[in-house]
Amino acid sequence: MKVTLAKELKQKPDFTKLGFGKYFTDHMLIMRYDAANGGWQESEIVPYGSFNMDPASCVLHYGQGIFEGLKAYKDGNGNITMFRPRDNFNRMNRSAKRLCMPEIDVERAVKELEELIKIEKEWIPTAPGTSLYIRPFMIADEAFLGVHPSKKYIFAIILSPVGSYYANGLAPVKIYVEDTLTRASLGGTGEAKCLGNYAASLLGAEKAKQMGYEQVLWLDAETKKYIEEVGAMNMFFVIDGTVVTPMLDGSILPGITRDSAIKVLKKNGYKVEERHVGVDEVIDALKNGKLDEAFGTGTAAVISPVGTMGYKDEVYTINDNKIGKISLWLYEQITGIQTQKIEDSFGWVYHFSK
Ligand SMILES: *Cc1c(COP(=O)(O)O)cnc(C)c1O
Repeated sequence: MKVTLAKELKQKPDFTKLGFGKYFTDHMLIMRYDAANGGWQESEIVPYGSFNMDPASCVLHYGQGIFEGLKAYKDGNGNITMFRPRDNFNRMNRSAKRLCMPEIDVERAVKELEELIKIEKEWIPTAPGTSLYIRPFMIADEAFLGVHPSKKYIFAIILSPVGSYYANGLAPVKIYVEDTLTRASLGGTGEAKCLGNYAASLLGAEKAKQMGYEQVLWLDAETKKYIEEVGAMNMFFVIDGTVVTPMLDGSILPGITRDSAIKVLKKNGYKVEERHVGVDEVIDALKNGKLDEAFGTGTAAVISPVGTMGYKDEVYTINDNKIGKISLWLYEQITGIQTQKIEDSFGWVYHFSK
């Protein structure tokens, strides 16, 4: 790997006011792919900066692009860790297959990411709730106006020091159940972390925002009866003591935080069901006082309690708009493992070599 260091380093932002995804570090990793030239080329760490792209570049026209999101942490002694990085690159390869893009070597990607983060270690915030957000992505970069899989790609990783995803931290969010627009459908690209899914979700999100909601809860495309997920979070409901979450049936993104939550819950004796979850079932549980709590899971916010749910013309309050017991406990468990305050019995924490 070739490393070219920046001549001048940026001024670091105030680490107590990071927000999410606003600041980027001094360097980035780039690896180019050219089918006519042996596939993946040697990767490079270069100063953070613009791409020079041909206006006919495939991704700009047909959206052949995928991404990932994970986090790195630094403790008081300067030890750096990441959370389940191989799972992210493996998922990236599954997304790549769905979009006819080339796969990457997972072990090599993890090692090179480690090198990039070591160069940027001063950018890793250490206060509780903060971390270094890692955004790997891959875009099609062949200059050709025609719909076919690109023969050239750019794989890149950028880094952003982040605070909590929501301005109010772990405060309950308001979600609106969208019953007209669709995010993903069976046979489509819902289970791939691909660019178009997010563009498709924007109108619903804007509609919800205008009604005073923060997130959209998407339903299945065909019947609009079953709960799928929130734009960038998987959903969990605690109904009468049982934790239920929509099963991965092809149109839902298989979240790594979702998987972590299920495993932590099961290990601690909770009953977890992965199955179809009807929106009517949730509303009935709400009306009968059996919906104990609801929360979303995702890398950015980890656990996000849901306090208000709007569906058609009704507004429902969940758990008195308070953070639920299981939501808070899970947040503490998962972030505890991530920051090594709780023992990692799952082998999820990736330790950096010295
Ligand atoms: C990334 C993402 C999630 C959460 O996945 P994690 O691996 O837990 O971060 C959930 N839904 C969608 C649509 C996503 O893009």
